[in-house]
Amino acid sequence: MPAGERGVEAAEGAAAASATPRLRTLVVEDEPKVAAALREGLEGEGYEVVVEGSGEAAFFRLTTDSFDVVLLDLRLPGRDGLEILSAARRRGVATPVVVLTARDTLEDRVIGLDAGADDYVVKPFAFAELLARIRAVVRRGRTAEPARLVIDTLVVDRVSRQVTRAGEAVELTVKEFDLLLHLARHARQVVSRDTLVREVWRESSRSTTLDNVIDVHVSRLRRKVDTQRPVKLIHTVRGVGFVLREAP
Ligand code: CA
Repeated sequence: MPAGERGVEAAEGAAAASATPRLRTLVVEDEPKVAAALREGLEGEGYEVVVEGSGEAAFFRLTTDSFDVVLLDLRLPGRDGLEILSAARRRGVATPVVVLTARDTLEDRVIGLDAGADDYVVKPFAFAELLARIRAVVRRGRTAEPARLVIDTLVVDRVSRQVTRAGEAVELTVKEFDLLLHLARHARQVVSRDTLVREVWRESSRSTTLDNVIDVHVSRLRRKVDTQRPVKLIHTVRGVGFVLREAP
């Protein structure tokens, strides 16, 4: 068996032995009591929870951080829930969203689904119902793509956000992970700088500064993923972009 295959087996064994990956959840809720109750309930179920209480802060989080699921209250101070949701979807944020809406705002429900929500629950709701909705949208969101992407001896787990190379953990920053995940999702395809600007940095246009930032991140990724490995996986395609692939 080639060393590479042994590496993948070791990586898979290590991942299987670890606990179920924690779902990273963004709770957008301005009422402190409700937010605290959601945090307590979700953490009790083993979820990792980040709470944002205003529209602006929630939008910033959504577009700069990664989550498995978002619980979104519609009535927020500042930018309201629907506005944030539409804007985030336009920016390419594909995270499943469950809208939390009041009983008297039936219209909101319909609009919420139009704005890109995956499901909704009506307040006050039973916590068990909310959990069921969350599990359903997360499952739906994942059917199209495996949790772990494997390229040679590199394993990128998009759910637990862990990366290993030949069974050894690779520590990445949030942005480095997002970049690697994008390359892994499009393995063996050349990913252009324009695409990275849009999909990973979520900016509308390229700039020299941003090109430099991308170069810095790619070179850090190379150092962490490829240095001292006989097979290099991250390749530059001059004048076009980058590609993640095994040796040709
Ligand atoms: Ca509210």
